[in-house]
Amino acid sequence: MKVAVFSTKSYDKEYLDKANAANLHELNYFESSLKLKTVKLTEGYDAVCVFVNDALTKDVIEALAGQQLKAIVLRCAGFNNVDIETACRLGIKVLRVPAYSPNAVAEHAVALIMALNRKTHKAYNRVREGNFSIERLQGFELTGKTVGVVGTGKIGAAFAGIMKGFGCRVVAYDVYRNSSLEAQGVSYLSLDELLRVSDIVSLHCPLTPETNRLINKESIALMKKGAMLINTSRGKLIDTDAAIEALKEGTLGYLGIDVYEQEEKLFFKDLSEIIILDDKIMRLMTFPNVLITAHQAYFTDTALTQIANTTLQNITDIENGAINPQNQVCINMIK
Ligand code: NAD
Repeated sequence: MKVAVFSTKSYDKEYLDKANAANLHELNYFESSLKLKTVKLTEGYDAVCVFVNDALTKDVIEALAGQQLKAIVLRCAGFNNVDIETACRLGIKVLRVPAYSPNAVAEHAVALIMALNRKTHKAYNRVREGNFSIERLQGFELTGKTVGVVGTGKIGAAFAGIMKGFGCRVVAYDVYRNSSLEAQGVSYLSLDELLRVSDIVSLHCPLTPETNRLINKESIALMKKGAMLINTSRGKLIDTDAAIEALKEGTLGYLGIDVYEQEEKLFFKDLSEIIILDDKIMRLMTFPNVLITAHQAYFTDTALTQIANTTLQNITDIENGAINPQNQVCINMIK
């Protein structure tokens, strides 16, 4: 198949080319994201291959249908950036990588917790400048702390297991219970109760209309004063304005995010010589108790290999008319 790969970085090309070593498909790489302005580039292709911040809106998908494209192949698990209803209506198949090394994301959530708590990022800078003072670098011990996991699917379950290993009490909220986690001593609570009792809250549910701004002024008000909030899932799970207010008031003690509400204009780009117009992220960066990474939680060799292999398999399956139903995004998944 002839596939237009959008939002390509050097590592995407490296891993996709490795997975396509037998040259089963013709992959053409574009650095640009897929948007209405760039749809023209897809002329003559069978499918597009996209990532988390390519906005496959109704207009874009209608334009793809006009170019006779057969499929949208996502190099990620989340599909909140695709108008699934329009794709289904127009007969464009949407495939994703439903599972790839959940440990990659779970471990990054733990890395954010550890860095925020023990302030390793600050210690690193201090020592490099010959400042060996440990004043204000004090942290807390995780043993015995209560950790609330929102969404106990593949990543949330892996994260819960790691936090159990630290000696934490792990509580969870999900629309479905994970019995194997319950067997490991994880107790399910309502979301409100989880927010009330947790010292650390980590978000691992998908972005859906129900979870959009799940963490807002009201839900933050339920949290323990000084609690830590971690988001490695999707930026829109948190109302950023409410988080900024809570950080200013001191109700939120720490914020660690790998995803951000308006990340599509920022993340995966080198903007170091450009004036950043997003005042919210600039405000967030001024807080000493906020740690931001630019959507790198998935970024491990294991995950990149699995993403590339599943993506290539998805393309082959489309060509052979034998799609793996577990990888196909269907209309009932958004209803
Ligand atoms: P998953 O489908 O295995 O698990 C998601 C869980 O969330 C499920 O148990 C589901 O029941 C639960 N859920 C759904 N709606 C909910 C709601 N309203 N309230 C509470 N729980 C709800 O998905 P996963 O593989 O564990 O991934 C979770 C999310 O992590 C993805 O949706 C994606 O947004 C994000 N992610 C981020 C990165 C990154 O690099 N930062 C990488 C991969 C995935």
